[in-house]
Amino acid sequence: MNVRAAIAHGPGQPLSIETVALEGPGPGEVLIEVKATSLCHSDLHVLDGLVPWEFPALLGHEAAGVVVECGPGVTRLAPGDHVVPFLIPHCGECLYCASPRTNLCAEAFARLRPRPGRFSLDGRAVTQLWGLGTFAEYTVLPADSLARVRPDAPFDPICYVGCGATTGLGAVLFAAKVEPGASVAVFGLGGVGLNVIQGARLAGAGTIIGIDTNPAREALARRLGATEFIDPSTVERLAAH
Ligand SMILES: [Zn+2]
Ligand SMILES: [Zn+2]
Repeated sequence: MNVRAAIAHGPGQPLSIETVALEGPGPGEVLIEVKATSLCHSDLHVLDGLVPWEFPALLGHEAAGVVVECGPGVTRLAPGDHVVPFLIPHCGECLYCASPRTNLCAEAFARLRPRPGRFSLDGRAVTQLWGLGTFAEYTVLPADSLARVRPDAPFDPICYVGCGATTGLGAVLFAAKVEPGASVAVFGLGGVGLNVIQGARLAGAGTIIGIDTNPAREALARRLGATEFIDPSTVERLAAH
């Protein structure tokens, strides 16, 4: 099928809307209609040339969509399911997937390298960033990188769950292991920082201080759980501790 996609042709070049050919899903893959997708700074790292990659490429990894067709062997998902992709797959077959450390799945590292995907542009292969690629009307993704979500969840906010939200929540719950009643300071209230605030609230933190030089972040930070907000550019003199 032909679909419209925002294609990256090389570092430093703007994304360009093109009509690309998309093959149907192969074994273990799923065709998805992309309903919402967001721009992560990791996409920008590739677009800025800071992370090496092969072009032309389909970037994008934060998304939400609906399953249209399942390839051979896919039994866990069915057409009509609402899904979000996530960056670290769970292949279910490697040593790590058989252990509690599924975050080290061997496939996750394999997909960090460019390899042929399902898209092509004028007969030329288009790589899919880290085995995903969501800046398109439809995409084909590995089933082991998809999570089924509630069908009543709105696509726009949940497209963010697979990367930015989990990065922030994971930092609080699994890396810092914030305990109930703890005081938490969050430096930088972008997509990840705001989710650190949400994570701190979920962990039962007492004082949650959001720190950002953008005053427009205060209202959102407080809505997500910040109890204090500091704009360092307005602090005249910092007290020594
Ligand atoms: Zn991301
Ligand atoms: Zn695995």
